[in-house]
Formats: sequence, structure tokens, C-alpha cells
Amino acid sequence: MTFDVAIIGGGFAGLTAANHAALGGLRPLVFEAGDDDLYMCNSRVATGALHVAFHGPEESAEDLYTAILDVTDGTAREDLARAVADNAQATIDWMREEGGEFLQHPRRSWGMPMMAPGRAMRAGLDWENSGPNLFLQMLGEKLAARGGELRRGVRVGSLVVEGGVVTGVALESGERIAAKAVVIADGGFQADRELIREHITVDPQKIRQRNTETGRGEGLRMAADIGAALVGLDKFYGHVLSRDALTNENLWPYPQLDVICAKGMVVTRDGGRFCDEGLGGIYVTNAIAGLADPLSATAVFDSSVWEDAKENDIVPPNPSLVENGGTVLQADTLAALAAKAGLDAGGLAATVEDFNGMVRAGSAPALSPPRTTKVYPAHMFEKAPFYAIPLCAGITVTSGGIAVDGRARVLDRTGAPIPGLYAAGSVVGGLEGGPKAGYVGGLIKAFGIGRIAGREMAEQIAGSAAGTV
Ligand SMILES: Cc1cc2nc3c(=O)[nH]c(=O)nc-3n(C[C@H](O)[C@H](O)[C@H](O)COP(=O)(O)OP(=O)(O)OC[C@H]3O[C@@H](n4cnc5c(N)ncnc54)[C@H](O)[C@@H]3O)c2cc1C
Repeated sequence: MTFDVAIIGGGFAGLTAANHAALGGLRPLVFEAGDDDLYMCNSRVATGALHVAFHGPEESAEDLYTAILDVTDGTAREDLARAVADNAQATIDWMREEGGEFLQHPRRSWGMPMMAPGRAMRAGLDWENSGPNLFLQMLGEKLAARGGELRRGVRVGSLVVEGGVVTGVALESGERIAAKAVVIADGGFQADRELIREHITVDPQKIRQRNTETGRGEGLRMAADIGAALVGLDKFYGHVLSRDALTNENLWPYPQLDVICAKGMVVTRDGGRFCDEGLGGIYVTNAIAGLADPLSATAVFDSSVWEDAKENDIVPPNPSLVENGGTVLQADTLAALAAKAGLDAGGLAATVEDFNGMVRAGSAPALSPPRTTKVYPAHMFEKAPFYAIPLCAGITVTSGGIAVDGRARVLDRTGAPIPGLYAAGSVVGGLEGGPKAGYVGGLIKAFGIGRIAGREMAEQIAGSAAGTV
């Protein structure tokens, strides 16, 4: 049996690229390291919100492009941002055509489609009956019906290059498989402790893997080994979690504490703030991971924030955090709270006084560090009882990775495409990140760039992307 293209990874990125290649007349072979029927990968356990920088994919391409550049402070590659924005509508159209269904996200009001059936709103990892798991299985079945193959339990070890052209892959077993093109779609490097220590945190043991730990950086390394450029490796998409999530399996991926942090404040043991909480949880979790001691951050907030936390989150932490064994400290005075939470009482009192004074004066953005108020207005810290939650950073997927252009072609360090090599999904860099850890969306990176890669291979190899939306 001969195949035209080899794809590394059977998540949404790999299976989307494979299905589009097959629709365009090619025979794709997907290598997937997991060997179970329901092999673990981030795609299978995703919550399912399909967005482009938190905008619905059916908004105008121009608005989506602007949103990507805004959220990344202009650091996204323009051709890649443009391609993702231009393809967003066609991407969701194709998903619907394949049988995917969507519902409105129950806790977000800005028209964000959620893959159906929706995730039950409860703590812990919960995926069996959710849209992403069912859609992943459906893509595998469609690939087989279209003449492709998903080969499980096979790990790719390296790329085969002849005369500067990628001509196949070498499996961990040593076997070589020839292919006219290869797509790297192995899901990122978040689970590789060595790479994480090099780029993201001084101590990988002190951040919570908020993912399936299948993205081990192998795609990144094999691409770098043949001269691919890597970009933006210092940021990640993730959420702020209870520190107890390091040992309590019920406390990840939800409940997350992003909104608590954004509406209250986050301090280190000296009682001082260290980041702009108003930029939201993805930024804050990056800031926590970047601390000299990533286990030194604590959220402090008053009872108005805790009451509000009954409603305003994907899985509200009040009361689910306590119900699932997470620590929530409570006291009637700031000094008593500091004592319970192991914070410097004088430092915390000074921070709260400064914070309240600036909020009262309408000058929160002038605090040091600043407190942005655009999305989360700053509230006075005043209504007892007061609360503290020890935090840790939760890493979901890395934002940076292999440099690709708007046609999903992997670029070398001079910026030229490496013939025969494509990348899609979380392994791709250059779309997300920047100074505020801008997040564009794991699913749109997988479905959108996967679609672009599949169609591009079909055009280049079969001379047609016919049959694909
Ligand atoms: C809990 C959770 C919730 C999320 N919710 C959302 C959400 O609501 N919206 C959103 O946009 N994003 C969300 N994401 C992120 C999103 O799920 C991912 O970014 C996306 O699914 C990544 O797809 P992928 O195909 O690139 O990688 P993956 O789905 O991780 O697939 C990569 C596959 O490659 C395989 N592999 C790795 N190395 C090799 C190798 N050497 N050889 C062969 N195979 C290999 C792995 O086993 C894996 O199956 C969430 C993630 C998590 C963990």
C-alpha cells in the first residue's frame, strides 16, 4: 500500500490536514503515537469553544485579522494571521459539512460556537460525551472511508531529507516511510520538561500540566534538526489553577481562577502585586510561571468577588473549588488573612491601601504594576470576609513553535519554505504570544491551519484541492 503524504499526529490538526488531502485526491497516512482506540490528545479533551482571539469565526475576516494582531500586540506573522482569518468561515462550514454541530457557549455572550454536545459544567477532566471527542472519532472514520489511514501506536522519530527536500519520516522503530510531503501536527512542547525549563519557567515541577501530556516537543525538535526556524517559545496558553491542582486530579482543567484573579489581586509572599491582573488569566498564568518561585503566588479578594464567582466562569469556582478539595482561606481582617496565607501582613496592607486609593481615584491603570480596566473593572478591596487562594500556573498548550507561512509551509532560518514540509495545530509558532501572551485559539490553529495544509498539499501534489470546502 503506498501513500502520498505522511502526517505526524492524530489530533484535530493532523486529521483535518489528512481529510482535506484525501478530499483533494491524495492518500494520507497519519502516524499517531497513542495506541488506544480513544488515544489521549488535547483535541479529545478540549472544551470545544471555536474562536479566533475570542471572536466568533463567522465574524468578518477583516475583524478577525485585526483581533489577532491586537491580542498579540502586532507580533503575529501577518500572512499567517491573514490566512487564519480568511479561512475561519470556511473552516466552520467544513466542520458542519462533516457532521459537526455547535451550540452557543453557555457562559460567554459574544457569539462563540461551542462543539456539541457541550461539556458538562463540572470540575475535573471530563470529555467522554463531549463534542470534541465525538468529532475526533468521526474524522478518523471519514479518513478511512476516503482511502487514508490512521495508524495508531506508531511514534515518528525524525524527518528524512534528501537534497534539501523532505521525502518522508523515520519511525522510532527505525523504519523509513517515503512521502511526497510531511505534516508535523504533534501538538506542541508543553509536556517536555527540558524545553519548558529552557523557555517558560525555572521549575517545570511547579506548574500544572493542564493537558494530556502528549505534546512532547518531538515535532519541534525534528523540524529544528533540519534547519526550521522556531518562533515565540516563551509564552503559553493556560489558566490559573488552585495550587492543590498539583496533587488533586479533580482540580484541573477546571475550575480555573482567572476571573477571581482579574477581579481581585495576585500577590507574592511579600504581599506585593507583580503583574497586571486586568489583562486576564492567560497573561496572569504566564506571569506566575515566570516567577522566581512559581509556587509563591496567592489570589486575595473580598467577599464581593467570591460571591460573583458563583456565576462568572466556565466552571465557576464557588462552590466547586471547595467541594472538590481546593483550599480557600477566609478571615475577617486583612492581617488575619495574611497570617493564614503565609503573606507578609504589612506588605499586604500597604498593597491593599495603595490599590483602594488608586481605584477610588479612578487611576488603577497608573498603579505599579498597572491594573488594566478595559475588560475587568477594578473593584475596591473592602467587603469582609476576605479570602485567599494559593495558586499555580496551569499550562495547556505552548503558543510558540515552528515558523510557518500563510500556506502552512515550514520556514527555514532564512525565511524560505522547506520543500515538502508543513506544520499545523499547536506545534505552529508565529500566530500567538507577544508581550501579553495573546491567545488566538487552539482549535482554530488545529482546524484552520490543518485545513490550509491539507489543501495546499492537494494543490501541490495532486494539482487540485477539488472536493474540499
Ligand atoms: C482541557 C483542554 C481544554 C481546551 N479547550 C479548548 C477550547 O475550548 N478551545 C480551543 O480553541 N482550544 C482548546 N484547547 C486547546 C486545543 O484542544 C488544542 O490546542 C488542539 O486540540 C491541539 O490540536 P493538535 O492536533 O495540534 O494537537 P493534539 O490534539 O495534542 O494532537 C497531537 C497528537 O500527536 C501525537 N504525537 C505526538 N508526538 C508524536 C510523534 N512523535 N509521533 C506520532 N504521534 C505523535 C499525540 O499523541 C497526539 O495525539 C483545550 C485544551 C485542553 C487540554
